[in-house]
Amino acid sequence: MGIIVVGTVALDDVKTPFGEARDALGGSATYFSLAASFFTDVAIVAVVGQDFPPGHLKYLEERGIDTSAVSILDGETFRWSGEYGYDLNERETLETRLNVLEKFDPKIPERLSNTELVFLANIDPMLQLSVLDQVENPRLTACDTMNFWIEGKRVELLEMMSRVDIMVLNDSECRELAGEPNLIKAARKIREMGGPDSIIVKKGEHGALLFTGAKVFSAPAYPLESVFDPTGAGDSFAGGFMGYLAKSGETGESAVRQAVMYGTVMASYCVEQFSVERMSSLTWDEIKKRYEELKELTRF
Ligand code: AMP
Repeated sequence: MGIIVVGTVALDDVKTPFGEARDALGGSATYFSLAASFFTDVAIVAVVGQDFPPGHLKYLEERGIDTSAVSILDGETFRWSGEYGYDLNERETLETRLNVLEKFDPKIPERLSNTELVFLANIDPMLQLSVLDQVENPRLTACDTMNFWIEGKRVELLEMMSRVDIMVLNDSECRELAGEPNLIKAARKIREMGGPDSIIVKKGEHGALLFTGAKVFSAPAYPLESVFDPTGAGDSFAGGFMGYLAKSGETGESAVRQAVMYGTVMASYCVEQFSVERMSSLTWDEIKKRYEELKELTRF
């Protein structure tokens, strides 16, 4: 089973207490696809501007990622800048420049329209909906979003989330979307608002909760001594999560729980270095090793 992902391919400016990166390769689809590519075939649906360094697309292709549905339009690439304080769970967005994203009209090539797994990474919900309209009976669909869209495109977001099987979002987004501070109540409320039955709430260094119907599964984060740049952790989590489901060919409860653990592993590696650097040196043996360590960590 392969995956098709729609999301941003971006140039990021990121500042953390440990350093800063300018014009770094980023974006929700970038992080997602790099993480998922360790498990399965991934195709990106996205847009970049004329200023996007061709070497970045080449890099994704060399990782085995299908970039044939990445459009290059006149104008500048989507740009995001953010800053983290010593509490790396807290991030401030300094600027979001949509640029070519504003005129993007995604077209799914015929040969990708029957891809079994579809991930709607963080991007304008209008674009997420457009992709949903173009895929034929996918086996599993999941989505992410962000405060930017919760605040700016709520109506479209509510429609989009009523059409997916799984929603993956972080704790602050979950609270904001539901207007409810308690995460358990918030997840229930999101369901009542028309959202999917399965909701995964990421809590940064405090792990993740998977709500499925009345059941809750709690996954710890991998305890890391040094975190350099949390950017992309959520997207890498989603990439590992969907990637594992694609690889296993299963979507039952047990597979979904294991997928949460693989998501946790991929997020933990992503944050060890700036931008996509750690993903570039990562090996499958390292992924397996951390997965086994997580098993041991939660055994009692
Ligand atoms: P994460 O840390 O997993 O939330 O993902 C961070 C990535 O999301 C960065 O590389 C940004 O380029 C991208 N990003 C930031 N804001 C947005 C937005 N409003 N829509 C889509 N992607 C975004």
